[in-house]
Amino acid sequence: MNAMKKLIAGNWKMNGSRADNAALLAGIAAGLPANACDVLVCPPAVYIADVVQALQGTAVMVGSQDVSAADKGAFTGELSAAMLADCGVRYAIVGHSERRLYHGETDAVVGAKAQAALAKGITPIVCVGETLEQREAGETQAVVKRQLAGAIHAVAHCVSEIVVAYEPVWAIGTGKTASPEQAQEVHAVLRAQLAAATEQSGRVRILYGGSMNAANAQTLLAQPDIDGGLIGGAALKAADFLTIIQAAS
Ligand code: PEP
Repeated sequence: MNAMKKLIAGNWKMNGSRADNAALLAGIAAGLPANACDVLVCPPAVYIADVVQALQGTAVMVGSQDVSAADKGAFTGELSAAMLADCGVRYAIVGHSERRLYHGETDAVVGAKAQAALAKGITPIVCVGETLEQREAGETQAVVKRQLAGAIHAVAHCVSEIVVAYEPVWAIGTGKTASPEQAQEVHAVLRAQLAAATEQSGRVRILYGGSMNAANAQTLLAQPDIDGGLIGGAALKAADFLTIIQAAS
């Protein structure tokens, strides 16, 4: 059981425009409860500087959806952790299933990205999760443990500094949510793996992601090892995002 502040992180993916973002952020800022949980938004990289500016004076933090494993140089299209930190980024999602699927990111690449983020003071949110095929084959625990092991190995003595997000691939953007019991079962496995790697595993927040929404957030967040949420679709509507924040606060 964890008494730490929960973290609600919105992953905007490739959505938004300057006008849409301004309206969304104004809505979030206006409705943020006093004593809110930790709140993070991860806009498309091109909007990060705008979003940081718009959120000045609020408690809402800004994250990136990815980060390069490299420091600098000839990596066209990449953004380094130093650049992101320079622009006010506090967290970086690494190893989202869409990056693993569409960009071929391996556990080793994801681990290197987590390490690159930490080296510049950015907290990596390491995503793990099984596909429907893997769940049906009874491989869920083996898959998420292998994915988390890659990150634990890469960040070495800094394991307590990461955030983990359990995102079953079959639940992302599909409207199919893992039941609170299914999610808790995997979170407990991840917690045990973290505990074997660091004495400070109680500090590591394990987020659930996968069709979390205003209606189901409360029961998911009530599970003992669910320390917050990584929210896709529902993070694009201020009212829904605020309801989730309220449930976590
Ligand atoms: C995500 O992409 O991280 C996610 C959880 O998406 P959604 O909430 O839309 O399922």
